Amino acid sequence: MTVTNRHIRYTLLLVIIGLLVYLALGYGTRSFEAYCPFGGAESLWGLITQGEFTCALGPLNLSIMLALLGLALLSKKSFCGWACPIGLLGELGGKLGGRLWRKRPKVEKRTNGYLKLLRYVILVVVLYFTYHTGELILRGFDPFYLIFSGFGHGSLGWISIAVLGGIVVAALVVPMAFCRYLCPLGAVFDPFSRLGLLKVSRDDSSCTACGMCTQACPHEIGVDEIEVVRHRDCTNCLECVDVCPEDDVLSIRARL
Ligand code: SF4
Ligand code: SF4
Repeated sequence: MTVTNRHIRYTLLLVIIGLLVYLALGYGTRSFEAYCPFGGAESLWGLITQGEFTCALGPLNLSIMLALLGLALLSKKSFCGWACPIGLLGELGGKLGGRLWRKRPKVEKRTNGYLKLLRYVILVVVLYFTYHTGELILRGFDPFYLIFSGFGHGSLGWISIAVLGGIVVAALVVPMAFCRYLCPLGAVFDPFSRLGLLKVSRDDSSCTACGMCTQACPHEIGVDEIEVVRHRDCTNCLECVDVCPEDDVLSIRARL
């Protein structure tokens, strides 16, 4: 069996999910929340204005956040494709949806662009209310928190169940719907990801324009139409590289 990038990526994701479950069951010395990178953004204002971290957050959240911003500068949104359980949920939901729908409804390009602005709105709203209340107001709506805490402290009962259910159903209709439109952490990564050094590059002279790379991309990036993938949503998941039938047409390279 040939080991593909997907095999390596899914193995890494399963290891990370296993570690998170271990922490969520209370076996670790810290709560799984201590490792949430978005906590770094949520705690920043409190740290600057009052010199203390918000609620249950701490220095580890901030350190992880800063490390991941550095990773985005190196390899775009690799965290989202290679380490985030919610990214995996969106990806698998998209694949399952592809089998369920005879013809999946397509989000028109302009609408897709407008919907992506939602993640910036959510980022601003979450940070505003977190800074003003000193509470982690995202908990009741955050799929990561809801899943790993088992709808724990801060969840909003049926509202949280409906939110999580909505995210799962949305992934069946639009691959990576939560990541594309709603994830505030993705919004934080965006400007860094645009600058990310390692990018998928396409050798146009050997490309047969079969379009399989674009079809395989969970973010529907038109890989077959560009020579260097600079798109902010690219997670360097390498699904496009795996699926390309031609040798060495697609590769990951350092490109400005
Ligand atoms: S899958 Fe490979 S050969 Fe086909 S369009 Fe994409 S880069 Fe070109
Ligand atoms: S362009 Fe390729 S590496 Fe980037 S997200 Fe799409 S499939 Fe993954």
